[in-house]
Amino acid sequence: MTKPVILVVDDDAQVLAAVRRDLRTRYRESYTVISASSGEEALATVRELKARGDALAIVISDQRMPGIHGTEVLARSREVYPLARRVLLTAYSDIDAAIKAINEAHLDHYLSKPWDPPEERLFPVVDDLLDAWQAEYLPEAKGLRLVGHQWSPRSHAIKDFLASNLVPYRWLDIARQPDAQILLDAAEVSADQLPALFFEDGSVLRGPEPRQVAERLGRPLSAAYQMYDLVIVGAGPAGLAAAVYGASEGLRTLLLDEHAPGGQAGSSSRIENYLGFPAGVSGSELTRRAVTQAQRLGAEFLVPLEVTGVSIDAGYKRLSLGDGRELVTRTMLAATGMAYREHSAPGVSEHTGAGVYYGAATTEAPVFAGRRVVVIGGGNSAGQSAMHLSRYATEVHIVVRRDSLRDTMSQYLIAQIEKTSNIRVRTRTEVERVDGSGRVERVTLTSLDEGTSQVEQVDAVFVFIGTKPRSDWLPASVLRDARGFVLTGRDLMADAAYARTWKELREPLSLETGVPGVFAAGDIRAGAMNRVASAVGEGSMVVRFVHEYLALT
Ligand SMILES: Cc1cc2nc3c(=O)[nH]c(=O)nc-3n(C[C@H](O)[C@H](O)[C@H](O)COP(=O)(O)OP(=O)(O)OC[C@H]3O[C@@H](n4cnc5c(N)ncnc54)[C@H](O)[C@@H]3O)c2cc1C
Repeated sequence: MTKPVILVVDDDAQVLAAVRRDLRTRYRESYTVISASSGEEALATVRELKARGDALAIVISDQRMPGIHGTEVLARSREVYPLARRVLLTAYSDIDAAIKAINEAHLDHYLSKPWDPPEERLFPVVDDLLDAWQAEYLPEAKGLRLVGHQWSPRSHAIKDFLASNLVPYRWLDIARQPDAQILLDAAEVSADQLPALFFEDGSVLRGPEPRQVAERLGRPLSAAYQMYDLVIVGAGPAGLAAAVYGASEGLRTLLLDEHAPGGQAGSSSRIENYLGFPAGVSGSELTRRAVTQAQRLGAEFLVPLEVTGVSIDAGYKRLSLGDGRELVTRTMLAATGMAYREHSAPGVSEHTGAGVYYGAATTEAPVFAGRRVVVIGGGNSAGQSAMHLSRYATEVHIVVRRDSLRDTMSQYLIAQIEKTSNIRVRTRTEVERVDGSGRVERVTLTSLDEGTSQVEQVDAVFVFIGTKPRSDWLPASVLRDARGFVLTGRDLMADAAYARTWKELREPLSLETGVPGVFAAGDIRAGAMNRVASAVGEGSMVVRFVHEYLALT
């Protein structure tokens, strides 16, 4: 941790050097003593310290300086660091001004020059002030800080990006934390530039896109090679498993994801049924382990990078990327899983990111401490999210159209929900509309049996109403079933279009799609089990078929 700062300000170079020397002699073990030769420089330094998250313990400023005077330096430093102690350095003739400033600039002390010997006239005063400051001071937040409005979809996008990519950060809601506005003022960030992301070195990204954040965090977004043996699209459990096996078996393997590693599993607060974790494991922990393992074994990893299309060129697969570039590979795995279906009730789309969230319960849950929330859906993902939210919210309403959770949710989750006093399951009910101004404030719930409506004051709605495959980016020659799930292996051969489209002399390999050398694994596949373990199993298996395909070509 960096040391708190003592700032000395004087336009007289000799006096400045003398105070700095005396203070360093005495305080350098516990404090960093820095200096400024004008009021303007001092205030710029104060803003910079704030943006970096450094602590400022004392400002000692000369009164008579050209430009900004000492009293103003102290008053304005106080706006940024209310706890920092303020000392005015005055000549004997200025003592009256100093006494007047005690009230106006809330001075803690004035020191008349010269202060020799410092042991008698300087250190006792500074010791006292530092003791008082230490007693009140709480460490400033260090590391990444994101400042914005809780109800802004852009803030949500960056929060979600950082959390999903396992980047630790501190969230400062400008409506709730007074320090947030001070930080913005210090860095001269205006309201239309929010959210603002502050880095430890004091630099700020204003209103960034996830891609800019990734670049600033030093995450590579360009592929290292021209050509790969295996490119895996989608870093959910299936893609991560394929990356581990592909890289460990010597294939030049690249894994990319448009959002973050982990996929749907990454948003799970607790996976209870994954082999080897008797007490369950959170999706983010499982993801962290898998990413580390894949990278250690040599898989290359690019995120956030979307694949928008694929074309086949003499057996090579050309992937078009969201940023306009292309990648070429000999084989490809489509592991893009599924996405949540959008809820069609009025008010839902307008409030998405501003109180309506799709599968973001783990990222957003702490914000809803002490509030009321609704979870729509009766599947395991809805159940897990409700359990997670119940640790923060005062009330969690699970809204389902069916008459119970029995047919859609695992028994262990139903039992947990029954034992949780602040979760209420509202069966045979649907959300008719969502209302609020700029953020969710109310939902109207309709009873399917009685046809009556009831308005509930809530702060958030978490939607888990089924999923759809993310297969739109694949070419038409990758055959799909009526719902858009990708056909592979035997299922592919059973499809009416197979004879027309498959022109190889061999049969498709298991997990191979209608395009030779393009494979699919996990939830995107027709007939998938929709489990972490099965996605991992398929992702691991596919590498064996990739080897077989490469041996044939
Ligand atoms: C909240 C929740 C809880 C769950 N709990 C459990 C549980 O306890 N036990 C269990 O067994 N299963 C659970 N599941 C199901 C399990 O998570 C899924 O079956 C599994 O994640 C599927 O893995 P996948 O790799 O096939 O796809 P996904 O996990 O869906 O990952 C697909 C990835 O592809 C990326 N992607 C999509 N399109 C593109 C594109 N065009 N370009 C680049 N990248 C793209 C996405 O960003 C995503 O990261 C849960 C699911 C949810 C949502």
